[in-house]
Amino acid sequence: MKRLQNARRIVVKIGSAILVDDATGSVRRQWLQGLAADVKALRNDGSDVLVVSSGAIALGRRVLGIGSRRMSLEQSQAAAAVGQIKLARYYEEVLEPHNVKTGQVLLTLDDSLNRRRYLNSRSTLVTLLREGVVPIVNENDTVATDEIRFGDNDRLAAQVAVMTGADLLVLLSDVDGFYDKDPRRHSGARRLDRIEHIGSELEASAGGQGTASSKGGMVTKLMAARTATQAGCAMLIAKGDIDRPISKLRSGAACTLFLPSGDPQTARKHWINSLKLKGMVAIDDGACRALARGKSLLPAGVESVSGSFCKGDAVKIVDPRGEALGVGLTRYSKDEAKRIMGCKSSEITVKLGSPPQSALVHADDMVRWKSALSRHRCR
Ligand code: GLU
Repeated sequence: MKRLQNARRIVVKIGSAILVDDATGSVRRQWLQGLAADVKALRNDGSDVLVVSSGAIALGRRVLGIGSRRMSLEQSQAAAAVGQIKLARYYEEVLEPHNVKTGQVLLTLDDSLNRRRYLNSRSTLVTLLREGVVPIVNENDTVATDEIRFGDNDRLAAQVAVMTGADLLVLLSDVDGFYDKDPRRHSGARRLDRIEHIGSELEASAGGQGTASSKGGMVTKLMAARTATQAGCAMLIAKGDIDRPISKLRSGAACTLFLPSGDPQTARKHWINSLKLKGMVAIDDGACRALARGKSLLPAGVESVSGSFCKGDAVKIVDPRGEALGVGLTRYSKDEAKRIMGCKSSEITVKLGSPPQSALVHADDMVRWKSALSRHRCR
């Protein structure tokens, strides 16, 4: 499986059903040790690895003596609080012998919707990876009530993949891929090898929710696939409840591959949106109108620059009233931008002594915040 070998950054999602033994309510240690060896092998190949693992509630309910009884929301949250400690410790225990450090990251859906928190979470995850740590991520179940109702670590994993610019998301499941019909009910169901487009037909074949202990069925997997692929990240659904599932995948085990559908441009914009902003560029009304029409930002329309940025850094673009209109990658450093702001393209060569890049922020390198820009359309 080339994609696995070539991936630079991989998110592996592990569901409760494969990690926790349903009968005993405890972790399948041997399986987890195999997974740790797989993670080590991926890292030896040069890939960054992030693990998104469910299992907190399944482990916690046992400790609290809840057994298989239906839980209230509060009980689920309490079970998650108890189980999460264990969950993180298990990962630490199995990865430590491989000299792999682990860090626990608990996120909520909100962390990916709120921009500041998104950037914070992203930079923590990226810093952990840079430090050689394998982040063990789960939803912050004790506070994320929606997640507990829907059980959505598939979507969380996709968001982690987008957030960290991963190029591959692997959902380890109790089935070996996505089928055209529910394989538990239709003997003639056919596994799809590759999926290029997620349309309504596919959604219809996704069927209902998952098993008792894993709440995410094919529906949430498809949602995850949509999020990941639109951001340029491939996704695999593969059988996880077998020994060394990832090494089996590497040697060609069956799976379903969702190809990244997002045009590179969309993926790039996701990426730009998630970069740390190094400065600010204030533009005049004429430039605001040009941006609202989808044009590039030319030096002529720049009124002031601030911060400390180099060529290629992400900057915030604001209108004359200081309202943010978007972000983009600047083609000039701050010093250069200062010298050429307000200048026409022909004057730039004289000022900088080199042929100009006509745009300060090219339209392809810009993420527009449409609602803010719409106010400039007819001004
Ligand atoms: N976050 C939940 C847990 O750790 C599981 C949610 C899911 O199965 O998707 O128990």
